[in-house]
Amino acid sequence: MFEKSTWIRLPRNVVVGHGVRNEVLDVIDDLHLQGRPLFVTSPTPREVAADPIAADFEAAGIEPAMVTIEKATFDAVERVIDVAEAEDVSYLVGIGGGKAIDIAKLASHHLNMGFCSVPTAASHDGIVSNRGSVPNGDSRHSVAAEPPLAVVADTGILADAPWELTTAGCADIISNYTAVMDWRLANRLQDVEFSEYAAALSEMTAEILVGNADLIRPGLEESAWVVTKALMSSGVAMSIAGSSRPASGAEHLFSHQLDRLAPGAALHGHQVGVGSIMTAYLHQGEDGLWRDIRDALASIDAPTTAAELGIDDETIVEALTTCHEIRDRYTILGNGMNERAARDVAQKTGVID
Ligand SMILES: [Zn+2]
Repeated sequence: MFEKSTWIRLPRNVVVGHGVRNEVLDVIDDLHLQGRPLFVTSPTPREVAADPIAADFEAAGIEPAMVTIEKATFDAVERVIDVAEAEDVSYLVGIGGGKAIDIAKLASHHLNMGFCSVPTAASHDGIVSNRGSVPNGDSRHSVAAEPPLAVVADTGILADAPWELTTAGCADIISNYTAVMDWRLANRLQDVEFSEYAAALSEMTAEILVGNADLIRPGLEESAWVVTKALMSSGVAMSIAGSSRPASGAEHLFSHQLDRLAPGAALHGHQVGVGSIMTAYLHQGEDGLWRDIRDALASIDAPTTAAELGIDDETIVEALTTCHEIRDRYTILGNGMNERAARDVAQKTGVID
C-alpha cells in the first residue's frame, strides 16, 4: 500500500518590484492578519524600510511594536520573544538583511505566530526559506521553522544595498550546483530522501542566474530583480524538499566552519561560493564543473580565493579538514579530508597559493 505523505509549505504572497514597500499593509490585509505587528529590523533597514512602513500602518490606525537588532545572536531572538509577549503582538514582520529576517523567523516559530519577510538585501536564500539560523556561542543554531507567509521584496531598496551583499546572494545560488551533487551522492550512498523535482528546480535556478550574469551589475535595479527571483526559487526548492538539501551541501559546512574559525571575516554567500569551487573539484575532478563555477563567481565580482575572502590559507585548510563534523549531513567530504588532501584541492583550484 502506498502510504507516503508530504507537506509543502510555501509563502502565500510573493510581491517583487519597484516601490512595493508601500504594499506591505495590503499584503497583511490580504493574509487576514489582524492585531498588532512586531517589526524586527536593524539600524540601516529601519531607516530605509521599517520606519516608512510603520508610518503606513500608523496612518491606517495600527501601531506596530518595533525591535532593532544590532547583532544576530540567540539573545536577540530571546529579546524579540520578550517584546512580542510584552506588547501583545499577533504577528511578526522581519525587515532587513539576513539577520533581522532570521531572527524574526526563529522568534515567530517559537511564539507560534505568523511572520512576513521584507528583505532589504538579496544576500542569501534565508529571506524565503523555511530554515533559520543564528550563531549560538561556538556553533550555529539552525532550526526548521515555517517559511514566511509573505515576502515583499522592493527592488528599489534591494538595488541600493551594498553591492557585496548582492554578489553574496548570487554566490549562494551558484553553490546550488554542488549542493545538489552532494544530495545525489547522499541519496545513492546513504539512502537520504531525494526529490528529483526540488533538485531540478535548484539546478535550474543556478543556471538561470549564471545565464543572466551580464545583467548583474552594481546599481542596476534589474540585478536585484534577477537575484531576488533566484533566491525565491531556491527557497521554494527547499520547501518542496522539506530540507535545505537542494541548496546546502559540503560548501555550506565549509562556510559554517569558517564562521567559527574566522568570525565575521567574509559574507556567508562568498564563503559558500569558494567552498563550492573546491567541492565541485572533489566531485568531478580536474575536468569537471569547478572552473565554470569559479568563472561564474568571478564574473559577478564574488571572491574565488582565500585572499579575496580575507581569510588566511591555513584557516581554509583547517575548515576543509574539520567541517564534516559540524552536523550529520553526508556529503563528498565523507568522514573528513586529511590535511594533505585538503591543501591539494585548495591549491589545484587556486583558492590558496
Ligand atoms: Zn546559503
